Amino acid sequence: MGPPGSGKGTVATRLRQEFGLDHISSGHLLRREVEIGSAIGQRVGLFLENGELVPDRTVLWFMGEWMKSAPLNDGFQLDGFPRTLSQAKALDEWLAKRNAPIEAVMLFACNLTLVLERITGRWNCPKCGRVYHIYSAPPKVAGLCEDCSIALTQRTDDTEAVVRKRFGIYKRHAKPLADYYEQQGKLTVVDAALSPDERFAKTVAALN
Ligand code: ADP
Repeated sequence: MGPPGSGKGTVATRLRQEFGLDHISSGHLLRREVEIGSAIGQRVGLFLENGELVPDRTVLWFMGEWMKSAPLNDGFQLDGFPRTLSQAKALDEWLAKRNAPIEAVMLFACNLTLVLERITGRWNCPKCGRVYHIYSAPPKVAGLCEDCSIALTQRTDDTEAVVRKRFGIYKRHAKPLADYYEQQGKLTVVDAALSPDERFAKTVAALN
């Protein structure tokens, strides 16, 4: 969990690289559907563009389809899903049936000033979703994804106005969601203002 720009994607990429943990970002999967113009992509496009949450019913159906082939035995990390309390409850029910409950929840706490600073320098790989930042996490070759060697792009919802809105929506849902996982004893809060290495170390310590 964490607002846009809190560094969830960067930590997730490194966990994937170092521990082979699959990284599933609901935002990345949804953006891909929009790009290919699929039926679901056409349905969710405007929500993404405006920085609004896709309705629970649609997201639950969409992620439910993905979860059918989830690598439950190898472990995986979810980024951006669940985002609301009802999504969290639905996911818990779904995983309980498969005897594969969530083991840990990381929350990257971040204020709006830092979010805005981070987002303006953010670039993404349109293929694998890896996140770069011009100052804190630049690619080895400027403008190119290190894994896919294709040109990086900026998200259309990474403008200041849309980021402010996404931050507000995140805030509204974060507290009940965090309380839910706190009650289950699964939540660890990490200060998103720490360096990428420190954030990663704290995450690994919590997972261990
Ligand atoms: P962020 O960087 O804001 O955390 P994401 O890449 O996770 O962005 O999500 C981008 C957009 O995709 C969201 O603004 C929303 O429109 C949609 N989205 C992604 N995940 C969800 C979800 N779990 N529930 C509803 N909408 C979602």
